[in-house]
Amino acid sequence: MTAHQSPIEPSFRQSVDMMFNRAVALMDLSPGLEEKIRVCNATYTVRFGVRLRGALHTFTGYRSVHSEHMEPVKGGIRFALSVNQDEVEALAALMTYKCALVEAPFGGSKGGLCIDPRAWNEHELELITRRFAYELIKRDLINPAQNVPAPDMGTGEREMAWIADQYKRMNTTDINGAACVTGKPLNAGGIAGRIEATGRGVQYALQEFFRYPEDVAIANLSGTLKGKRVIVQGLGNVGYHAAKFLSEEDGAIVTGIIERDGALHDEAGLDVEAVHAWIAKHGGVTGYPAANHHTDGAALLEAECDILIPAALEGVINLSNADRIKAPLIVEAANGPITAGADDILREKGCVIIPDMYANAGGVTVSYFEWVKNLSHIRFGRMQRRAEESRHQLVVDELERLSADKGLGWELSPNFKERYLRGAGELELVRSGLDDTMRAAYQAMRAVWHGRDDVKDLRTAAYLVSIRKVADSYRAKGL
Ligand code: NAD
Repeated sequence: MTAHQSPIEPSFRQSVDMMFNRAVALMDLSPGLEEKIRVCNATYTVRFGVRLRGALHTFTGYRSVHSEHMEPVKGGIRFALSVNQDEVEALAALMTYKCALVEAPFGGSKGGLCIDPRAWNEHELELITRRFAYELIKRDLINPAQNVPAPDMGTGEREMAWIADQYKRMNTTDINGAACVTGKPLNAGGIAGRIEATGRGVQYALQEFFRYPEDVAIANLSGTLKGKRVIVQGLGNVGYHAAKFLSEEDGAIVTGIIERDGALHDEAGLDVEAVHAWIAKHGGVTGYPAANHHTDGAALLEAECDILIPAALEGVINLSNADRIKAPLIVEAANGPITAGADDILREKGCVIIPDMYANAGGVTVSYFEWVKNLSHIRFGRMQRRAEESRHQLVVDELERLSADKGLGWELSPNFKERYLRGAGELELVRSGLDDTMRAAYQAMRAVWHGRDDVKDLRTAAYLVSIRKVADSYRAKGL
């Protein structure tokens, strides 16, 4: 439960279950299969000690496996003091539905360590991370064929590199060892575009939404992303990249940024890069000179804007503030930012919610590409890029020859030639695969949203699409 959340609200896991129940009530699954899909298969709790600063410190960590209808199972590892079993199980369940929705061939899992990562220095964090990884690896809860973690809140490339190295030390002959975790740095088996992937996916999700004027109208909006006023909560990995791409590439105006120490507000638009650099240097938004600072950051969730992007933690929009939220469109970049109770209130008000299992699926999508890259032991584009360029060169040469032979005086613009001739490298391929995935998943949700009278919102549509896929895969196994 977050500080602002009402005590009468269900827990995060119960909230996910309630949303699941709302969707399965519209399906024709047998009660047995329904239960099988809903429940979390297993949660492992580990308490381990690490000697630091002259004393033994005990840490508590979890790895939860929600569904093994496909293996490996997949899901990030979170480092935060608020981590608990309920949260990890809710996040693991969301991973099951998310992977099914975007057709990443994984079951759902999630991990967490109760720790404030800012309380320890880099060397100490490495010792703690390696020890946690050791505990999970020896039980096959990190394994390229069985369970593949990734970054989440409080973790990033650095931690993933330590985990991969720990796995390789313990499995020296596993040629696929690098595939035991995704979100690694490029020089340690990572893939171009993974760091930005979740934020990029949020951008692609919004771009796809705005391709359908009738969907945009349901949110009482019109036109394109250009000029839309956006408020973002959490300028971490996901929030920063989403805000950056939407403002730099789509012309959206970021009017609010909410962080743990308050919020910045400027109707004329905030400079996302400058705020990000300020946070990196000062640890928060306090003191940022070029905008109004509000100490009660969460209050800015209720401000007027066109698009609200909660990209920090769960439960921030709940029974205590849902009726005051003014944004007509909310994109759940974080997992579970809206409680089940708040979801009811917002839907009643006509707010359109682009649900977490879709909106933040860019991360797992590019993680899937990274895992495939690790198993195939070759960078995407390495074989095709120059062949593609040579074929394009043939077309350009032929056009120029025809123009010269016939005296037509045609000249291809240098900008066109440069862009047309360039073969796709790994980053272009990753972005193309991600864009395609986000478009296809939106279309699948949309077909249900508009195609069924009993489905009134995108979240229920997303659950229907994903639960159907999980159920089909259980049925194919004979369950
Ligand atoms: P992060 O640790 O990089 O960033 C989180 C940000 O939120 C930080 O800037 C932090 O200061 C801020 N924050 C923390 N508490 C806050 C509060 N009370 N109010 C306002 N801001 C607060 O984490 P992230 O990886 O960006 O993850 C954010 C969310 O996105 C999580 O819900 C996570 O599960 C989800 N997500 C992440 C990924 C990924 O690839 N990293 C993928 C899918 C979903």
